[in-house]
Amino acid sequence: STSTDPIGDVEQEVKEWAREKKSEIEQLRSQEKFRREFLSNISHEFKTPLFAIQGYIEAIVEDEFYDTEMAMQFLKKAEKNVDRLSYLIKDLDEISKLESGEIPINYTRFKINDLIKEVFEQLELKAKQHEIKLIFKQKYDDAILVSADRDKICQVMINLIDNSFKYGKPGGSTSVSLFELHDQVLVEITDEGIGINEKHLPRLFERFFRIDSHRSREIGGSGLGLAIVKHIIEAHQQTINVRSTEGIGSTFGFTLQKVMQSPLKQVIPTLKS
Ligand code: ADP
Repeated sequence: STSTDPIGDVEQEVKEWAREKKSEIEQLRSQEKFRREFLSNISHEFKTPLFAIQGYIEAIVEDEFYDTEMAMQFLKKAEKNVDRLSYLIKDLDEISKLESGEIPINYTRFKINDLIKEVFEQLELKAKQHEIKLIFKQKYDDAILVSADRDKICQVMINLIDNSFKYGKPGGSTSVSLFELHDQVLVEITDEGIGINEKHLPRLFERFFRIDSHRSREIGGSGLGLAIVKHIIEAHQQTINVRSTEGIGSTFGFTLQKVMQSPLKQVIPTLKS
């Protein structure tokens, strides 16, 4: 090079190197902070049900004049907390596998309409129990063919619809709508539930993020459902978003890759006739 200021050049290089190192260190620090927070979240999540189980069992063991009815009640409460622990472990296992890339995305072609109907059948009873009406707003006559991991998208839909029950209002509805975009399909799940304040939306998909942690734990979530959903959609190179109005309801929307129908298929029937 024809630089006239070699010292200035070196100085510049050193400054750049220092900047790079600084940003690397900052990145490591934030990863470390993230890891610490994650671990402390996990132990907190485990502690609550574990202490509850301990409490109920102790109460039964120490009951001098053994009261069968009370013991039964406590055992049922303990059982509920055991369930919570197993959900938590299942979800943690799932998210760590997704994050490490251990679970591959198995693309197949399927009709999204069929999957929605299948998910509705699976959730029919639960919807009734929550007194929520499940509606499929089918705008298109023909089923739309998509390319995705069917089981995983099934799980995404179940998680989102299940949340619409958990944070829904009895007597309300949850509807699923499809919108055809150019080479994608947008699937939207809209509820008439409690809604989400705008200030919480940016953190909603974070692991263990909850708006009302006491209420959510009572309802029985692991706090990992939306993080899992986001992972699955992003592993498909698709997007997920949410819009919501507190007190009115929320809409979660995600995209899927549409299988483009070859134009030949549209031509052939006319050729035959
Ligand atoms: P959880 O197991 O706590 O339900 P999620 O990851 O599924 O965990 O959701 C995170 C939080 O987002 C919930 O605790 C709840 O506060 C909020 N949330 C999720 N879905 C909805 C919804 N449909 N309406 C209102 N709030 C919701």
